[in-house]
Amino acid sequence: MLASFVAAVACHSGAIAAPAEVCPVTSGAPAPAAAPAHAAFRILVFSRTTGFRHASIPAAITAVEVLGSLNNFAVDATEDPTVFTDADLARFAAVVFLNTTGDVLDSTQQAAFERYVRAGHGFVGVHSASDTEYDWAWYHALLGATFDSHPAIQQASVIVVDTGQQSTRALPNPWVRTDEWYNFRALPTGVSVLARVDEATYAGGKMGVEHPVSWQHAYDGGRAWYTAMGHTACSYSERPFLDHLLGGIMWAAGIP
Ligand SMILES: [Zn+2]
Repeated sequence: MLASFVAAVACHSGAIAAPAEVCPVTSGAPAPAAAPAHAAFRILVFSRTTGFRHASIPAAITAVEVLGSLNNFAVDATEDPTVFTDADLARFAAVVFLNTTGDVLDSTQQAAFERYVRAGHGFVGVHSASDTEYDWAWYHALLGATFDSHPAIQQASVIVVDTGQQSTRALPNPWVRTDEWYNFRALPTGVSVLARVDEATYAGGKMGVEHPVSWQHAYDGGRAWYTAMGHTACSYSERPFLDHLLGGIMWAAGIP
């Protein structure tokens, strides 16, 4: 299983136009969960794009599927917005917006997703989930912030602010890694910041010393977890990033 995982996400995204990434030496397979056994659950991974499309999406989906196989949750991956109905969403403990962009749901589908979260379910947003649905205010309040801009992909130091959470406890600190570092229109409010990026360690940061890159909060009856990281295909074969993402999924799904 582990060998096949490494082969599957060895940073060849499958996108014809994208240059192959050279992944850092920290790449590796995800760790099986060390947490106590939990009941099996199911998540929905939604990666529809109507704007920019990340070449990392296939690697990202594969990675989440492998995390599920190692951690007792099933993964349904789709780009079909018609799954956003009360009956279909009720099957999932959490929904992951995985590098979505643009307008991905119509008003009826949005209303179903709002009811889903209010019923106590989980939301996970990865990277360009914040570059999605600009006209849906509830969604941006759920996510916590809205994408504004980014400099070129480069290495930076991530500082883990809250080291005791599921999505942070396995991380190095500082956590030096390469990604596309998002600036947001405003700092998120009312969230628990999990990690920030040190703007002194790269060029083009515009959020100041607080510059959050991951956070979580209870919102409107449900749970929302977000990471701004995850632009590159290499992220999805990077052991700490996979630990980070796994912890976010578990927290959003309500697994202690
Ligand atoms: Zn990106």
